[in-house]
Amino acid sequence: MTERATFFDTPLLYLKGLGPQRTELLNKELNLFTYGDLIQYYPFRYDDRSRYYTISELMDSMPSAQVRGRLRDWYLEGEGPKKRLVANFTDGTGSMTLVWFQGITYIEKTLRRNGEYIAYGKPQSFSGQFSIVHPELDNLATGGEHEAGFFPVYNLTDKLRKRHIDSKLIGKMMRILLEQAWPHIHETLPEELIQKYRLIGKREALWNIHLPQNQGWLKQAQRRLKFEELFYNQLRLIKNKLIQKEEFPGQIFRDTTLMKHFYNELLPFELTGAQQRVIREIYADFLTGKQMNRLLQGDVGSGKTIVAFIACLMAIGNGAQACLMAPTEILADQHYNGLKPFADAMGLNIGILTGSTNKKRRAVLHQELQSGQMHILVGTHALLEDVVQYKNLGLCIIDEQHRFGVAQRAKLWRKNETVPPHILVMTATPIPRTLAMTLYGNLDVSVIDELPKGRKPIKTVHKFDKHRAEVFGFMRQQLELGRQVYVVYPLIEESEKLDYKDLMDGFESMQRAFPRPTYEIGILHGKMLPYEKDDEMKRFLNRETQIMVATTVIEVGVNVPNASVMVIESAERFGLSQLHQLRGRVGRGADQSYCIMMTGYKLSTDTRTRLETMVRTNNGFEIADVDLQLRGPGDLTGTQQSGVMDLMIADLAKDGAILAVARESAQAILQDDPELVLPQHAPIRNHIESLRKTESNWGRIS
Ligand code: ADP
Ligand code: MG
Repeated sequence: MTERATFFDTPLLYLKGLGPQRTELLNKELNLFTYGDLIQYYPFRYDDRSRYYTISELMDSMPSAQVRGRLRDWYLEGEGPKKRLVANFTDGTGSMTLVWFQGITYIEKTLRRNGEYIAYGKPQSFSGQFSIVHPELDNLATGGEHEAGFFPVYNLTDKLRKRHIDSKLIGKMMRILLEQAWPHIHETLPEELIQKYRLIGKREALWNIHLPQNQGWLKQAQRRLKFEELFYNQLRLIKNKLIQKEEFPGQIFRDTTLMKHFYNELLPFELTGAQQRVIREIYADFLTGKQMNRLLQGDVGSGKTIVAFIACLMAIGNGAQACLMAPTEILADQHYNGLKPFADAMGLNIGILTGSTNKKRRAVLHQELQSGQMHILVGTHALLEDVVQYKNLGLCIIDEQHRFGVAQRAKLWRKNETVPPHILVMTATPIPRTLAMTLYGNLDVSVIDELPKGRKPIKTVHKFDKHRAEVFGFMRQQLELGRQVYVVYPLIEESEKLDYKDLMDGFESMQRAFPRPTYEIGILHGKMLPYEKDDEMKRFLNRETQIMVATTVIEVGVNVPNASVMVIESAERFGLSQLHQLRGRVGRGADQSYCIMMTGYKLSTDTRTRLETMVRTNNGFEIADVDLQLRGPGDLTGTQQSGVMDLMIADLAKDGAILAVARESAQAILQDDPELVLPQHAPIRNHIESLRKTESNWGRIS
């Protein structure tokens, strides 16, 4: 045990052939300090130089290919930054070009007319002619033939490359390390799992992930290491969840009188089946005596707010207080204004606390919370401040979770010193199952997968900018029917000034197309003061304005049932989930709603996929899946939420199947042997022990 720990803890300096200078570079540039760090620094791809292709065999779909041929001639083309060196390269089957934009003078000197070369790189075709830009070029006459095989390619920095630390060198170091490490590598999975899923051993896997003998071994090594990574990831999450459930008590809210009163007397519509189911799930949590940690997922407009309110009533009906936290002031206001009439009718006190609440009002609020007079507090991040103290906070609801960090959630926990409050996190960004399992593996998940009756699916179309007149015509039609329209512009921080100009230009062109006094146009953007935004939003809600020109400030949650058209300008600049969120601003009333995405002609393949997905479906979960495929899980969640970013080899966008099996295995093992004491689980125990040393997350598992 200790022997093993010490070997992989050995500083890189001791590795034969590395030396102090390179060691320091690896420390600084890649954060690699020990043998263990290096051995887990997996290649991000592999060069397949196991075979040669003829020019006639080349295809655009090849990630890379090597071709053996002769250099006929070369010439310079283009001016300025487009200046390039172009060489004609032929084999018996055809001809292609090799192109360089950089280092032209140097490369030109090294080329030999009619010399025999091996060119390697990504083939790309342009009107029937293939070319490779910046190929790797080996001259056969000078013995440059490459060893055949698969070669690992590591993520390296420019600085490392300048100091001649390239993938070849890392591969060489890896071989030395692997040979030395061989006897110290112990199996980390129980025999039972290895047998059942026909995994290769840990040693073979580590060897072949770095130095694959062939494609088959590489695949096996990847599968084995991905399984291991996901298995331990799930084991940790499930175990933590079990501990959490045992460790943290929660208040019991058994009495349903207050909630039933609301349900029977005041609720203006019938709950959907999904809403009822979720309310039952929450109520069941409230009876356990343990803290609830539940994620409520539901598409935009699925009716999460009313579910949240009913949960609040369960808490209040049992002598506790509740709070509801939203990511923006507009949203907090909207929740407050939406819930206030209900609270009033029930004789309950509801308050709001945001950045713009004045001092005097704050003082009163603080006092009312402490005395217990205030039953529900709605607000923004302001709720997290230490001065906000309750008599007995029983339930925290966090709306649109993706905007909050884990640390902030922890702050809410401490708002009740005696018993931590129950936590309900609501999100309208549906998270694909695979991701939810990993990200929120320690939360219970409820899903509202049904929209209230009578909602018509939003009709979505994609229009090019030059069809603007047609779009304006359509807007006019809708406005004449008494509907309202949103026009949204992108606002991305790096180019804030430009975006602001776009927004203002757009605003002016709208004013020309929809002149006063027939039409009134409002504007909403992030630079406005909170009360200004608020006024604009109110004017739109009260139909004083018919068109709302806005940036993505309106993205989350705002509810104007009479708005039936969403025009998204420069839609190519929005991510898929953002487009879906924006579309969710309409379709909230009984009228048919429309979403029109405007773009220029030049669109990337990814953008086309995004737009097509939006046109094809209104289903948030389907959209989330496509988004995951396009963007990868890191982008989807933001890096501050750990759990996903820790993965070194598994890819949640692609490895859903392995994840499901790994999770199942982890669950089964913990069910049989919660403390992992059985002899056959010794490899797990040992591995956790060594992980614990490097990762604080394992600290809680004992
Ligand atoms: P979201 O899940 O996006 O937060 P909201 O809670 O804002 O959705 O609900 C959207 C609208 O649907 C609100 O006006 C709400 O009052 C209404 N609503 C919620 N549940 C139902 C229901 N079961 N039947 C009819 N309307 C509902
Ligand atoms: Mg909402």
